[in-house]
Amino acid sequence: MKNKLFPLLLLLGAISVTAQDRIIGFSEKASEAQKELEADYEKQLSADNLDQWMKLLAAEPHWVGTEYGEKNVKWMEKQFKSWGYKTEIDTYHVLFPYPKVRVLELTAPTTYSAKLEAVAVEGDPYTAQGDKLLPSYNAFSTDGDVEAELVFVNYGIPSDYDELEKLGIDVKGKIVIAKYYGSWRGIKPKLAAEKGAIGCIIYSDPEDDGYAQGDVYPEGPYKNKTGVQRGSVMDMPLYPGDVLTPGYAATKDAKRLKREDAPTITKIPVLPISYEDAQPLLEALKGPVAPASWRGALPLTYHIGPGPAKVHLKLEFDWQLKPAHNLIATLEGDEFPDEWVIRGNHHDAWVHGASDPISGMVALLEEARVVAKLAKAGNKPKRTLVYCAWDAEEPGLIGSTEWVEDHIPELKEKAVAYINTDGNSRGYLGAGGSHSLQAMVSQVAHAVTDPQKGVSVAERRKAANVMRGGDNSFKLSALGSGSDYTPFIQHTGIASLNLGYGGEGSGGEYHTIYDTYSHYTRFKDPGFDYGVALANTAGRISLRLANAEVLPFELTQWHSTIETYLGEVMKTLEDMRAEVEKHNKLVSADTYELVMDPKKPIAPAKMKEEVPYLDFSPIQNVVADLKKSIATFSKADVLALSGAKKAQINQQLMGMEQVLLQDKGLPRRDWFKHQIYAPGFYTGYGVKTLPGVREAIEQQEWKEAQEQIGVLATTLKNFDVQVQQLNSMVQ
Ligand SMILES: [Zn+2]
Repeated sequence: MKNKLFPLLLLLGAISVTAQDRIIGFSEKASEAQKELEADYEKQLSADNLDQWMKLLAAEPHWVGTEYGEKNVKWMEKQFKSWGYKTEIDTYHVLFPYPKVRVLELTAPTTYSAKLEAVAVEGDPYTAQGDKLLPSYNAFSTDGDVEAELVFVNYGIPSDYDELEKLGIDVKGKIVIAKYYGSWRGIKPKLAAEKGAIGCIIYSDPEDDGYAQGDVYPEGPYKNKTGVQRGSVMDMPLYPGDVLTPGYAATKDAKRLKREDAPTITKIPVLPISYEDAQPLLEALKGPVAPASWRGALPLTYHIGPGPAKVHLKLEFDWQLKPAHNLIATLEGDEFPDEWVIRGNHHDAWVHGASDPISGMVALLEEARVVAKLAKAGNKPKRTLVYCAWDAEEPGLIGSTEWVEDHIPELKEKAVAYINTDGNSRGYLGAGGSHSLQAMVSQVAHAVTDPQKGVSVAERRKAANVMRGGDNSFKLSALGSGSDYTPFIQHTGIASLNLGYGGEGSGGEYHTIYDTYSHYTRFKDPGFDYGVALANTAGRISLRLANAEVLPFELTQWHSTIETYLGEVMKTLEDMRAEVEKHNKLVSADTYELVMDPKKPIAPAKMKEEVPYLDFSPIQNVVADLKKSIATFSKADVLALSGAKKAQINQQLMGMEQVLLQDKGLPRRDWFKHQIYAPGFYTGYGVKTLPGVREAIEQQEWKEAQEQIGVLATTLKNFDVQVQQLNSMVQ
């Protein structure tokens, strides 16, 4: 079988090589030189460096404000300097809570005191560092001392509360217990508080990342019964960054909000726990049995409550300003020093953070080392490369957000693009970002070889897509939130990418004391082959952006993505209408009532408000106009123009993503200004594309939806004006 396919594969290989013969944005000759440069770059990447550096950077816990964190920054600065970079450490003073009091106890009908401590394991010395380890907690939970009946709310996301309402269960005045997963964690206490709960407990069910998935640590990579996921619960969909300085930099003398007035600190206390600590609480619950889809893998019958389980939750934090140190290392461009390609990864971790974030950080360091070496050998990048190691990402993208807020005018003028990485492991290339960069990233992904299979990482990615029912093409996902690209793209309108390999290094170590060098080198990416693949991918992208004659922004694929999103939003509205019509028919025919088990009563189904028709024509018309303007531009032979013309076009291209912002931002959250991509108000990390329109429809705010259609049409119209200007430049 293999042999029969061989000639066909050869032929396909030949076609794909020809198709990507010339690198986007490079003339034939420059393309050849760039390919040689990239081959040289790839050859010099060393897995040993990644290994050694991870061992050092992840040797001790290094959350924001720790001595070890500062030591890491200084060590990295020394490396950058030795390679020939100009460096600076930009420090901001940011609010960071440290847990002083953590009490969780079951007070009725039996008693149990939660241990709140993960155990050291054999074979992993890092887990035995005792007091050095950061206690498990959720950063930006408010202080609180509450006691109430417990209610199990599944993942604690909007659809779970719909289910509870049907069952006639109210969480008002109660403490909820929710499983991790299903959404970003911060949504759970936010929604619980909106529903009137007075406390929130989040636990990791073994079904999601414990023994139901595989052997637990140290036998296997999954969560043992004592592991606890730390993490921020700041209301990041409102605004990320320092909670006391929304929209401006947390410099030493900045005017700060009072802590009581900071809108992104939770309204109720929230604490994460292990499944060992969750089990007695869940066992003490009675009331209705949880729906089948809510049940986890603990050996018990999952009940919802409320009660008779009653819990006492007491949390107190030390609320202090801590220094967040961002390291910025610059290699000045030879031809266009005022055009910046920015490459970043965070350096702070919850505990040791071997995977999150050090696996990405060491790839960035290796890229920077080799790029500087090539520059010294006579291959200086044309544009300036700016390497950033961010602090305080974990508590809420704080280091990067403060730095961006501090440099907005300069960034708007000089930034070409921002390329982010974070944790990395064995598997498939995951790439998200601005769709104007899709064609370029696809070309790079076809040029990088997968370390295990010997085909390009794009081929592997596409094969994985097909197996999951997708199509055989390389696409960027849209960016929501969850790492440091957010302030760049969604607040400032800088075209951004987020890159990482994964899917074959799954485990339960995320944000626990088990995310260590020992765990990483056994289970995540032994040998650092995918760390090198990441450095290869991100490095080639940075070098192409730095050296391109015409910046590799490609608008045809951008346009078809916008068309797809528009189709999705319109279909959402149609589906909602069909759903409501069907529901109302069943209500009037008494169908729900007839099938209901009288021994398990649920609230009677009510008629729903009909879904109106919205007028999408303002967007449809401008999308059609854009198609024509973009077709004209893509036909132009831009590379044949004079150097001065190309420089003018590059300036125009650099500013195009900014046109997709609206200064007044999204409804109820003006920090988020991008009109194409935003994290969901009720999903957190999960993206909402065309967010103004989409979220208004999902929340059934019909008037707002129609207004947002107008706002989006205006935004796209502005983009069309930019494309027309490009067209006049190529005349
Ligand atoms: Zn991270």
